[in-house]
Amino acid sequence: MTAEVIYGSELAQSMRDNMKEEVQQLKTEGIVPGLTVILIGEDPASKSYVLGKQRASEYVGVDSDLITLPESTTETELLTLIHELNNKESVHGILVQLPLPKHINEQKVIETISPEKDVDGFHPVNIGRMMTGKDTFFPCTPFGIIQMLKSKDIKIEGKHAVIIGRSNIVGKPVGQLLLNENATVTYCHSRTKDMDQFISQADILIVAVGIEHFIKGDNIKDGAIVIDVGVNRTKEGTLTGDVEFDSAKEKASFITPVPKGVGPMTITMLLHNTIKSAKIHHGVYNR
Ligand code: NAP
Repeated sequence: MTAEVIYGSELAQSMRDNMKEEVQQLKTEGIVPGLTVILIGEDPASKSYVLGKQRASEYVGVDSDLITLPESTTETELLTLIHELNNKESVHGILVQLPLPKHINEQKVIETISPEKDVDGFHPVNIGRMMTGKDTFFPCTPFGIIQMLKSKDIKIEGKHAVIIGRSNIVGKPVGQLLLNENATVTYCHSRTKDMDQFISQADILIVAVGIEHFIKGDNIKDGAIVIDVGVNRTKEGTLTGDVEFDSAKEKASFITPVPKGVGPMTITMLLHNTIKSAKIHHGVYNR
């Protein structure tokens, strides 16, 4: 079997085109979705992610403001800024680019952002809403993965989904969203024993580890749906995933590439959440 490749880049583009039209319409009603991104320090990867978010916001018409602060910014200064943004009418989404410098408590920052403006979906209130099956701002990468599966009419219900990785931003929430869609979910992590037995049972395999080519084709089940979240830089300086694409493609029924896979969907779902927040704020969500 040779897998069909799910290009997140293509789905992201068509979703952004639809959002662009929606934002144009909202603007005629006086609603301008606003996103503020806070970047602290000089981390090159964070700078590049933020640039991607700025470009995508501009394309869609979301009013995006970037606040760059020096590495020396104190926790108190950052929390004060977040409080100001929480109270600012024109801001519907606040995103603090992670990771933060070591002297700033990440969890405290996440919990200071108003749940109503938490377009990353990391606030415990929004995580709780997701876990209890309520509508909320879903974390962007997991939410993007669900959209990718749905775009190919892949039935999730009843499937065994195996998630490799249990981070708060990818592994745990993607498992929860798949459970909400009635999959049977198994989590694997660095302490899992005999992980191959779980991998070989996976109808849907989500890999979010951060190790180049951690999963090879011969580990996976025939016809599996393989979603590669990993982004790793090779010795040659190119980007590659956690899955050995060429060998996995011969066993899987669907597979995502790296790059052009999950990454573009993450930014797209951030814009989706920002527009949703603006609509909720103006009382026009679900009309
Ligand atoms: P993370 O916080 O470092 O978590 C990695 C997870 O992998 C942990 O749960 C860890 O287990 C597990 N793990 C590590 N080594 C393992 C091993 N040998 N066997 C089994 N499990 C192992 O990473 P993350 O933030 O979830 O990101 C994962 C990857 O996705 C990274 O490459 C990141 O760059 C990428 N990513 C991509 C996007 C996107 O939009 N495309 C978004 C976010 C992340 P323990 O919990 O036991 O330590």
